[in-house]
Amino acid sequence: FKINMSELIKLDELGKGNYGVVYKVLHRPTGVKMALKEIRLSLDEATFNQIIMELDILHKATSPYIVEFYGAFFVEGSVFICMEFMDAGSMDKLYTGGIEDEGVLARITYAIVQGLKTLKEEQNIIHRDVKPTNVLMNTAGQVKLCDFGVSGNLVASISKTNIGCQSYMAPERIRAENAGQLTYTVQADIWSLGLSILEMAKGAYPYPPDTFNSIFAQLSAICDGEPPSLPADKYSPEAIDFVKRCLNKDPSRRPSYAQLAIHPWLEKYQKVPVDMAAWVKGAMERRNSASGKADTFKPPLHKFTM
Ligand code: ATP
Ligand code: MG
Repeated sequence: FKINMSELIKLDELGKGNYGVVYKVLHRPTGVKMALKEIRLSLDEATFNQIIMELDILHKATSPYIVEFYGAFFVEGSVFICMEFMDAGSMDKLYTGGIEDEGVLARITYAIVQGLKTLKEEQNIIHRDVKPTNVLMNTAGQVKLCDFGVSGNLVASISKTNIGCQSYMAPERIRAENAGQLTYTVQADIWSLGLSILEMAKGAYPYPPDTFNSIFAQLSAICDGEPPSLPADKYSPEAIDFVKRCLNKDPSRRPSYAQLAIHPWLEKYQKVPVDMAAWVKGAMERRNSASGKADTFKPPLHKFTM
C-alpha cells in the first residue's frame, strides 16, 4: 500500500539532523505510529522521482536488526520517508555516562553487525553512515539500524551539503573525499562501527576534545594519529580486540562481517542472557532525568501541514 501525507497526523518532533527533521506521526488508516523523516532538497522532479523509486527497494530489506520501511513520497521540495517508530530513540541519547555493562554493549554490537551483514549480503547495500544516532532501540529491547545509503541519488544530493562536526569516516575515506573522489567500500563501515562502539562505551565521541574545535584537527587526528581504544581496566580482552580490529587504519586488514559475527566477544554474550529491555528502561530514565524532562504525553495537535 502507498502512504500519503493527508493520512498522517503529526504527534511530536523526535529530533533534527543535519539535513532534516524526524517526526512521530500516526498513520490514520492503520492506526500505526510511525517515524516520518523529512529531507529538504533542491532537486528537479525527475530526480525526486528517481529517489522515491530507489527507496522502494527498502520494502525488501526485512530483518529484526533493520528499521522497517513503510514508504516514501515527496512534497514541495522534500523527500519524506516513513519508517518504524522506535520508542526508545537513538543510542546517542541512551548511552549517558557510557555503557559499562559489556553484555549490553556486545548485544548492541551484535545487532549492528547482523544488520550491516544483511544489508550487504541480501541487498548489496553499504550503509555509509554508521553512528550512534543511526542505531535505534525500542522498549522491547530491540536494536535496529536506520538511515542507510539505499538511494544513490539521495546519497549524492546529501553528501554535497553534509558537514558534520563529528566524523565517523574511516581514514581512507577522508583522504579520498579530500582528493575529490567518492569511493566507498564495506570496510569503511567497519571503521565507523568500531568508533561507534567506543563512543557508546565511553559515553562520548572518542577523539579527544581538543581536536573538537577544528574539524581539520579532528580529521588529521583520525588520519595521522593512533586509533583510540577501549580502556584495559574496564573491558575484557575480547572486547578490546574486537574494537581494535575494526579500527585498523589499513582497510584491507579490517575483518569481514562474517568474521565479526563469530568473534569470541559476540559469541560469549550470545550464550548468556542479557536483559536488554531492563537496560533500555534504565537508560531512558537516566536520559530523561539528565534532560530534566520526562516523556510526557502530548495530545495530537493537528493534521500534518507544511
Ligand atoms: P545526521 O543528520 O547527521 O544523519 P541524525 O541521524 O541525528 O544526524 P536524523 O537522521 O535526521 O539525524 O534523525 C534525527 C533524530 O531523530 C535522531 O537522532 C533520532 O534520535 C530520531 N529518530 C530518527 N529516526 C527515528 C525512528 N525511526 N524512531 C525514533 N526516533 C528516530
Ligand atoms: Mg539519522
